[in-house]
Amino acid sequence: MSAFTVTLPSGEVWTPRFVQRIDEATCIGCGRCFKVCPQGVLELVGLDEDGERVMIDPDGDEDEEYEKKVMTIAHGGKCIGCTACSRICPKKCYTHAALGS
Ligand code: SF4
Ligand code: SF4
Repeated sequence: MSAFTVTLPSGEVWTPRFVQRIDEATCIGCGRCFKVCPQGVLELVGLDEDGERVMIDPDGDEDEEYEKKVMTIAHGGKCIGCTACSRICPKKCYTHAALGS
């Protein structure tokens, strides 16, 4: 099956690469990817000492009951495959793939 592509107004053919995975082991929760995503795909969550996800209270104290913060894919279906998140990530956490590839 050939990959899903988009023909730009210039005539150039562009292949979107959609977000597949964020490596929780390498993510430092810096939030850079969250700021550049135009689609609201991403969400910062806390991980407790057992690796379970806990909600982060944006107005809460820093010493809440999580060990570390990691970025997660909350709304993957809204991704447009721009790869801005991957390009800004300092820890190379992202895996992307073209549709149908
Ligand atoms: S590829 Fe683009 S739209 Fe998809 S999660 Fe990354 S920044 Fe958001
Ligand atoms: S930019 Fe990379 S290291 Fe920073 S929160 Fe996003 S995935 Fe994690």
